[in-house]
Amino acid sequence: LAAAPGETFRACDLEVQRSNHGLSLPEDLTKLSFGHDFAPHQLSVQWSSDRGWGRPVVKAIEDITLHPSAPVFHYGLGCFEGMKAYASECKEGDVLMFRPEMNMERLRFSMGRLNLPSFDTSELLGCLKRLLKEDNDFVPRAPGYSLYLRPFAIGTNAFLGVAPATECEIRVITCPVGPYYPTGLVPIDLLLDEDHVRAFPGGTGQYKVGGNYAPTLEHLHRAKDFGCKQVLYTIPGAAAVLGGARGGSRYISECGAMNMFFLLENGKTGVRELVTPPLDGTILGGVTRDSILQLCREWDEFVVSERMISVEEIQTHARGGTLVEVFGSGTACVVQPVSSLIRENGERLETRKGLRKKDKVSERAYKALTDIQYGRIHHPWSESI
Ligand code: PMP
Repeated sequence: LAAAPGETFRACDLEVQRSNHGLSLPEDLTKLSFGHDFAPHQLSVQWSSDRGWGRPVVKAIEDITLHPSAPVFHYGLGCFEGMKAYASECKEGDVLMFRPEMNMERLRFSMGRLNLPSFDTSELLGCLKRLLKEDNDFVPRAPGYSLYLRPFAIGTNAFLGVAPATECEIRVITCPVGPYYPTGLVPIDLLLDEDHVRAFPGGTGQYKVGGNYAPTLEHLHRAKDFGCKQVLYTIPGAAAVLGGARGGSRYISECGAMNMFFLLENGKTGVRELVTPPLDGTILGGVTRDSILQLCREWDEFVVSERMISVEEIQTHARGGTLVEVFGSGTACVVQPVSSLIRENGERLETRKGLRKKDKVSERAYKALTDIQYGRIHHPWSESI
């Protein structure tokens, strides 16, 4: 039922229904609250199995009216993206996006897993840029601020059976957001979950589908009992999963919305290795993850590995004082330094203390990426709308 290959909507067909909203950003930008404040317009493009893709429309943000049997309500037939638009700090009035084609491709990839129709990703990007032009005044022009973009796709037809959607819709809504770190990077503790899995081989971990997120909320609640803001998921080794074994080694997966990095030092040689779990289908291929890997490989100062890393290996490094740094990566925070991983038995796996700010890979990656995102330096990853 999904669209025939090559079938797509086109940015040149986009219709703008401008709304006389009378809205503007608050004078005091610190009043912005993530996910609560929205820019006035949205993008919408609908598809049906009879008519294919319709005409993309930019119009006032409004509620969605759907029949209660729509598959998005019952079977989690929905996926989404998260990306940002930045006001250039170098060229007045310029709005920049960071590797946006990666998010467009990941949306198409996630939709494919849900049997939702394909489209030409450059056409969606063209529509998105048109949306951004319409709400240009909602890209906050202040250091660290940005306009968060939430593209999403949902199955919308009125039918209660478990079946491929015969109608769906892509929408993009946007929220002006403040700096994640108003006072500099602040490390957090993570609860190391050694009981549950977020994803499993052959499952949907590598797709940004809603069904990956809803079941994490109960665990998030539990993390708070340990004084942690987030859960770091682990996964049994592939052999253990296939054999249905319990116990045995568990390997790092990812956080609720971040990929994970570990900077390890060889106690004997002093050689450092930055490790992140491989894209084996169980974790989301983050845009930030990919960018940090590329940057660190260019720096060529330490070994950069995409490999499985077990809880025991981290424990050994933490006990030996060679767990130099741990950090997460994602669009929202860019990087999130981690001070310790807390096990449910109370053990704390701590990173090395006293590292100088300028020596921290997390700090350096943060600066390098935000310099590109805010146009402080020219780089092919930054795309002007
Ligand atoms: N993992 C998960 C599960 C996520 O939801 C996100 C946020 N999109 C990430 C990792 C980080 O991805 P990105 O760097 O593309 O934001």
